[in-house]
Amino acid sequence: MISLEIKKIAVIGSGLMGHGIAEVFALSGFDVRIEDAFPEALEKAKASIGNSIEKLVRSGRIDEENGKSTLTRITYFSQMEPAVKDADFIIEAVPEILELKKEVFSEIDKFARPDAIVASNTSNFKISTLAENMKHPENVVGMHFFNPPVVLKLVEVIMGEKTSKKVFDETFQLSKKIGKTPIKVLKDSPGFVVNRINAPESLFFCLLLDQKVAKPEEVDTFARGQGLPMGPYELMDYVGIDTVVHSLDYYAQELSPEYGKCKSFKTMYESKNLGLKTGKGFYNWK
Ligand code: NAD
Repeated sequence: MISLEIKKIAVIGSGLMGHGIAEVFALSGFDVRIEDAFPEALEKAKASIGNSIEKLVRSGRIDEENGKSTLTRITYFSQMEPAVKDADFIIEAVPEILELKKEVFSEIDKFARPDAIVASNTSNFKISTLAENMKHPENVVGMHFFNPPVVLKLVEVIMGEKTSKKVFDETFQLSKKIGKTPIKVLKDSPGFVVNRINAPESLFFCLLLDQKVAKPEEVDTFARGQGLPMGPYELMDYVGIDTVVHSLDYYAQELSPEYGKCKSFKTMYESKNLGLKTGKGFYNWK
């Protein structure tokens, strides 16, 4: 029998995913601490959450009182210690760079309670790798949301090699409690289930550009014509080209050198054309 006593949540990294994850937890009544190493990112997160709540109130999905109380349940921090020290459940959502995530995990380890669950929203990295130097690898688990977290229901809950059954089950129950539809990923491997399925497509869409077969607009028009809400390149602008490139690099190391063949996305990455977050990607968003 699972006793879900999780009340206080800490979200580390307040970017595209982190601020949305924080909002989802706060909307479900949890006390949320959100931490980011960059004060300007926290300011942006606060404004984005404010706008999103306002939209939910305006559309009648939540009432004004609920909107106000949701906002008061979120506290913002630029330091790790006060954000995590009394948290029951900590979820990391910093950029998809393995060394950075490991540094953040060791910072969390310094200040978190020994019984706190430490989750990662990584798109690809094995949970066991992130848990490697943690004092309590049995408390480390994957909780992979999809973009935008407030809208999309799917969450992958990933079992690392040392994750305890209790921690896995609690994370699964927690996902349900915040209104999500979790799926169980019992084997820890690069990209888990969803991104493992999507990985060859990302490479394919890059090679289409490398080989000048078609332009993004044309492929996206075709995809929308097939009934998809948006085309693959438009979607990658939302996801962030940095996340796509870091994922392909990881797959090249872990799955097949084929994934290292993509050139166009790397050029965009080096020119900081990362999609919506920088105002320019496959499309101009300014
Ligand atoms: P992002 O770049 O939008 O946000 C990352 C945030 O982390 C930034 O606000 C940055 O200031 C902060 N940060 C950087 N270093 C930090 C540190 N040392 N301590 C605290 N904060 C720090 O990235 P994102 O798109 O939100 O992705 C975050 C994670 O979520 C990645 O692992 C990514 O793979 C995963 N993810 C992304 C998507 C997507 O569609 N973008 C979907 C699912 C999962």
